[in-house]
Amino acid sequence: MDYFPLFLDLQQENCLIVGGGEIALRKARLLLAAGAHITVLSPTLDEGLQELASTGQIVWQEGMFDPAWIRQPLRLVIAATDEPAINAAVFASCEAAGILVNAVDDPAHSRFITPAIIDRSPLVIALSTGGGVPVLARQLRAQLEALVPHGYGDLARLGRELRALSKEKLPDPAARRHFWEQILSGPLPDRVFAGDTAAVRAEIIAALNVADAGQLKRGAVYLVGSGPGNPDLLTFRALRLMQQADVVLYDNLVSHDIMELVRRDAERVYVGKKANNHALPQEDINRLLVKLAQEGRKVLRLKGGDPFIFGRGGEEIAELAAAGIDFEVVPGITSAAGASCYAGIPLTHRDYAQSVTFVTGHRRDGEVELDWPRLVNPSETVVVYMGVAQAPKISAQLIAHGRAADTPVAIVANATRANQQVVITTLAGVAEALTSASIKPPALIIIGDVVRLHAQLNWRH
Ligand code: SAH
Repeated sequence: MDYFPLFLDLQQENCLIVGGGEIALRKARLLLAAGAHITVLSPTLDEGLQELASTGQIVWQEGMFDPAWIRQPLRLVIAATDEPAINAAVFASCEAAGILVNAVDDPAHSRFITPAIIDRSPLVIALSTGGGVPVLARQLRAQLEALVPHGYGDLARLGRELRALSKEKLPDPAARRHFWEQILSGPLPDRVFAGDTAAVRAEIIAALNVADAGQLKRGAVYLVGSGPGNPDLLTFRALRLMQQADVVLYDNLVSHDIMELVRRDAERVYVGKKANNHALPQEDINRLLVKLAQEGRKVLRLKGGDPFIFGRGGEEIAELAAAGIDFEVVPGITSAAGASCYAGIPLTHRDYAQSVTFVTGHRRDGEVELDWPRLVNPSETVVVYMGVAQAPKISAQLIAHGRAADTPVAIVANATRANQQVVITTLAGVAEALTSASIKPPALIIIGDVVRLHAQLNWRH
């Protein structure tokens, strides 16, 4: 180890920054966040620092650096000038006085170096490459930023708040550790991330009072939208839950690439649906979700696109709500949004469409039941989900109700995936286009003048 990592308590401590520019400002903001009492020594101040000085957040000492400035009770000094000689002088004085010193981007004149930080206070992750390649630390930081939910700070704060109580109720350290392990591996952290901290606090206190976290290890169901199939379009939340689940229920809209990201040892249950070929009837899926959660498992119900758009997600959680099971719903990018962006067809556009309607082409009792007169407005885009089989009928009805036969239409299959397919035709030409292009499901039909923009805006060739 070239440097010893530590976290320094700087509340109300005197710190000196030498320099009045952009870098000095950045360092001042960081030290302020840590509660330090800051003096900035510089003949001039940039705008940002001037503002901090005029609002009393820092003290400005106008002037050039002089070794007389380096004296106790200074805790820490940062040299942020662009004069190497000054940085060196600051370093020498601080070393002589035994005061911690850092010259920005100048390890040779630093007693300490500053890490890249992921701030989820009170949880803080600090990263260092030993002053070698700061960009590397920053890249790693970006990855960790994505990995550590923002709610971790709330969780750490809650743990800190309950620390004294947990010591009192569970004096034995092993018992205490076991208690917290049970809490942290159960559904409560996710509820904190979702903002339910007050209720979680009350539940943990109740459990501490009986010194038993077992009752808190209830199962929960996460109804998660996995987007149109391209793993890059998952939300952070979806990915985190995928990596924690005990069991996953998925159907054929969830792409192979996405299933690859589910925790390796999670149990996988295929409940796939294809038109007229339900692997598991909806009622059985609903009941299975309840049963698995009652067994105390973390159940991930992974759905294509968004769970609340033509996904029957509402029915699944209604059953959970009725059974008193904890659940959470995570939105996904609906396939219409994915197809629109990845085919270069904005669903609304100032010149072509002022509104957009999502409809399903799925039949009930053998008939497509749509409010046809509502769908013929030429300044509205219509996106049909589950419509390929009925597309010829749908286009005939739209024309019969007055939508122009030459209205442009795009059929987008496997939107956002490597095998995305886009077929451009017209309302009158849909039936023929479908037979000649051999479209593979899943596919969406986009109807309206916005489809003209595909020629110009398609970026995925
Ligand atoms: N909840 C999903 C829709 C479920 S209905 C969502 O929000 O996207 C199933 C229909 O969605 C399919 O018949 C098809 O019309 C559409 N669909 C889903 N994924 C698709 C994709 N990658 N490309 C094109 N259409 C898709």
